[in-house]
Parts: sequence; structure tokens; C-alpha cells
Amino acid sequence: MRSNRNPLTTAEAVRLLPKAELHLHLEGSISLTTLIELADKHQVALPSKLHAEAVLEYRDLDEFIEVSMFAFQVMLNSEDFTRVTFEMLSHCAEHGARHVEFFFSPSSHKHLVYSQMLEAICIGMRLAEERFGVTSLIIPSHNRMLGAEAGIDFMKLVETCPAPEVVGVGLEFAERNYPPELYLALFATAKKTGLRLTAHAGEDGPAAYVETCLKRLSCDRIDHGYHVIDDSDLMAYCKDQGVWFTCCPTTTKHTTVWRELTSSEHAIHQMIAAGLNVTINTDDPGFFQTDLTKEYLALGLPLGALAQLALNSLDASWMPEPEKARLRGLWQAEIDDIIQRHQPR
Ligand SMILES: [Zn+2]
Repeated sequence: MRSNRNPLTTAEAVRLLPKAELHLHLEGSISLTTLIELADKHQVALPSKLHAEAVLEYRDLDEFIEVSMFAFQVMLNSEDFTRVTFEMLSHCAEHGARHVEFFFSPSSHKHLVYSQMLEAICIGMRLAEERFGVTSLIIPSHNRMLGAEAGIDFMKLVETCPAPEVVGVGLEFAERNYPPELYLALFATAKKTGLRLTAHAGEDGPAAYVETCLKRLSCDRIDHGYHVIDDSDLMAYCKDQGVWFTCCPTTTKHTTVWRELTSSEHAIHQMIAAGLNVTINTDDPGFFQTDLTKEYLALGLPLGALAQLALNSLDASWMPEPEKARLRGLWQAEIDDIIQRHQPR
């Protein structure tokens, strides 16, 4: 590989690390600028909190959900879905993402049918791949606040409209009052359909929810999962089974009890120290005003450890295994070069 020998600062090195983004909500990726433009276009009134220069803070997960719901009110037609998808993937690629697996919440949108949304999203994915070389897959996700019955309807939509871009299903939104066992039927159907399975658990819900997702819902991955650290037996099980966790540092500052990202007491550091399989992701980069570079840097880890987290993201992805094996060698060579060029200041 041809090497550019310019020295790299830590931030530049981290930005260049090849990464896969595995926990990102399409609707939460929308930038404030785009949110405001779409609100103007569709004449939707936004709360005064959401203005172009806003620095957004949230008390907890419930307040975050309340604010982020405005994304659903401004993404109304196919053009909006294509635009938001393309912008999301462009932002990911700018921060080193080579591959993105993203959620979207079909049941939370009321203006288009599932197939129309899917088609518009796929156009954005193809445009981004042509322009930036970033590949992507979709994880339609059930808004658990709509309940178990709606989960069955959600799964019918996904089943009746199969697409090669749809790799799995997820479970998202407020966690505590909506335990995972409510969605057993949804996940059983998804598994039969051959889809991969993931669920938000252990963000502000207990370790038992993580356990249910793994042992009863048969999840392949856990989104967040922080409360796993409250149960040492479950920690041992996750280590033994090689369970992948898609963690999101900045989110924890707003929605969990762990708000000091560089503290060894933070759940993500405890998970890494215990040998769990952790990946780093952005969750809702628009509403949390973040990007992959910021998320990797936020933990205060040395570049070597961050490079390992980047490789983890490839291993945790749902790309076909032969493709992952092919990319691993290429990513490792790039990482070696980046580490050689790194000159911390
Ligand atoms: Zn999430």
C-alpha cells in the first residue's frame, strides 16, 4: 500500500481509522440544519430549543426521546428519506466509516408506506456508496413504546417486503416500561425469516433485560448493554459466548448513570476491562451533536486500544463472513500505517 508519511495528530489518526458504525438511528442522525430546513419546507413548528446554534442537553432517556421525535415530523416524503440517508452516510464516511448498519423506525412514520421508505433509503445508500465507497445495511427497528401487537404488524411489513439491504431487525425507544419478553413473537418470526437480531437493552433498564434479549429473544448483538456490569454471572456468560455490544459513549452522558466517560468506573470501561466484546458507535449523531471521531476519542484510551475497537466493529458487523475476512487484512495494514504516522502532541 502506498503510504503518505505526513505525521498525524491523535484526532487525525482516530478519524482515519477504518471503522464500521453499527448503532445509528437514521432519524437521530439528522443534523439541526437539515431538521430546520425540512421543518421550514413542510411548515412544521419546532420547539425553541431546536435552533441552528443550539447545544443540546438531555436530562434522561425520556427527555431525549421527546426531543428526537421531531425528526419523525419533518421526514415526510421520499426525497427527505433519501436526503437524510445520504447525509448520514456522508457524515459517517467523513469520520472513517467504511460500513454502516443503521436502524430506521418504520412504524413511527405516518406519511409513507414501508416499501416507499425502503426504496427512498436505498437510493441514498447507493448514492453514498458511489460517492464515498461506504457500504451499508438496514436494520428496521420496532418502536417498543407502540407495544407488542404493533410489533407483530411491524414484522409483517418487514416479511412482506424483503430486500437484500435489510439484514436484521432491532428493538428501540424507551426501555424500562417495555421489557423485552413482550416482543418474543416478533423476534421468533424474525429469526425464522433468517434475519439477524439485535435489541436495545441495559441502557437504563436492568441486566435482566440484557439476559432476556440473549437467552429468550436469541439476539445476536446487544445495543448499549451497560447494566450487564451489575450481574457478574451474566458478564461471564457474555464473555464466554463472545456477545457483541454496540456502545455509544456520548449517549451515556445523557441517558444513564455513567456520565464520566474517562473514569474507569464508567460501564464501557468496565466492560472492556472484563474482556467483553465492545464496539463504539454514535447512536443519534444529529441530536447528540457527535461523530465517530468524537466517540472514539471520548473514552480517553490510547490509539492502540482504539484501533482494536475499530477492528472489533468489523468483526461485530453483519457483512458476509468472506467479505469480513477480506477486509480484515486491508484494515489491519491501514491501521499499522496510521499508528506509524501517529505523533501525539
Ligand atoms: Zn440507539
